[in-house]
Amino acid sequence: MKITNIETIWVGSALYVRITTDEGITGLGESGTWAYQEAVEATVKLLGKYLIGKDPLRIEHHWQYMYRNSHFRGSAVMGAISALDIALWDIAGKHFDAPVYQLLGGKTRDKCRVYVGVSGATTEEYVKNLKERVRQGFTAMGHLSPFLLEKGTRRTIELTEMNRARMLKEAANRVGIYREAVGDDVDLCIEIHRQLEPADAISLGVEIEKYRPYFYEDPIPPDNFDAMAYVASKINIPIATGERLMTIYEFQQLFTKNACQFARVDLCIAGGISVAKKIAGMAEAHYVGYAPHNPLSAVSTAAGVQIDACISNFSIQEAGGFNRYPDAVKSSVKFEKGYLIVPDVPGIGVELIDKYIDRYPRRSRGIDVRLTDLRADGSVITATA
Ligand SMILES: [Mg+2]
Repeated sequence: MKITNIETIWVGSALYVRITTDEGITGLGESGTWAYQEAVEATVKLLGKYLIGKDPLRIEHHWQYMYRNSHFRGSAVMGAISALDIALWDIAGKHFDAPVYQLLGGKTRDKCRVYVGVSGATTEEYVKNLKERVRQGFTAMGHLSPFLLEKGTRRTIELTEMNRARMLKEAANRVGIYREAVGDDVDLCIEIHRQLEPADAISLGVEIEKYRPYFYEDPIPPDNFDAMAYVASKINIPIATGERLMTIYEFQQLFTKNACQFARVDLCIAGGISVAKKIAGMAEAHYVGYAPHNPLSAVSTAAGVQIDACISNFSIQEAGGFNRYPDAVKSSVKFEKGYLIVPDVPGIGVELIDKYIDRYPRRSRGIDVRLTDLRADGSVITATA
């Protein structure tokens, strides 16, 4: 079998890669590089020059070639390699007539627990949305900020306009209100979006320990693992981080420094299915839970479920867009009472319906959200996106 064609396909804000072979088998992958997908597209074209004519089943060999041929890294390269890797695994599964998890050791579970994102412009709106999600059958809520968003924007007003004492007090109280709203049978994944400095992250973390969050996500910017380890050492709630990391080497440092208790691997930027399985293994050796980041579409979700289904240390996965673009992206992954059910179809279990792609016009994300996240004095704060 040989690779004959590689396409990049936009559906809404999702950028897919489709690989076609001379046996008629196709594979689908997704890139998770957000605002930089145009750069990913260009990189896929470049890497495609190497892949065309090659045997698609030599996945690890191709992965190493693409990563190591010049050793430039970064989001454009890793978004492209990730999407190509997922598509190659999809082809391998279809070729061997097996789900991808079957090729990676077989099922360790039949369904994968998910959390759903909840947000609000007021505390009351948060409470209303939390209760609605419980009614829909979700048992865990995430993307759950202790800070309010200004209506219709991604601007977190408390962080930009309030003084520190009031900000921290109101944020902690709000987490208490979330807990009261859902009771003790629902898990709360608190998300800080990299927006606090270590001292404030620790103050808030200590304040909300009593509400028993499932995890405390990205309390500080992701660049300094020593600082993350320092925060983790000062609070008694688990840290979840890793959604912006792009290599096994970064995760290795994170785990060695005891900087987190949950690994937020995004397989659409970390290197695809090949690398996610390796990171899960490293996490397992450190007793770190695997809790993948999944803000994208049904392709990302389906690829993620393949890993969740065959590792021992899976904890919870972001539900993300498991049913986004339903006409054009047909997924075998179904939601049922707080879980995604592991499908038993060959490959990753998602197909594009070409004739409906036009229903979802291309939507580049750009970087505009960052321009709205300024403090009252005009200085830059990390955006919520
Ligand atoms: Mg996050």
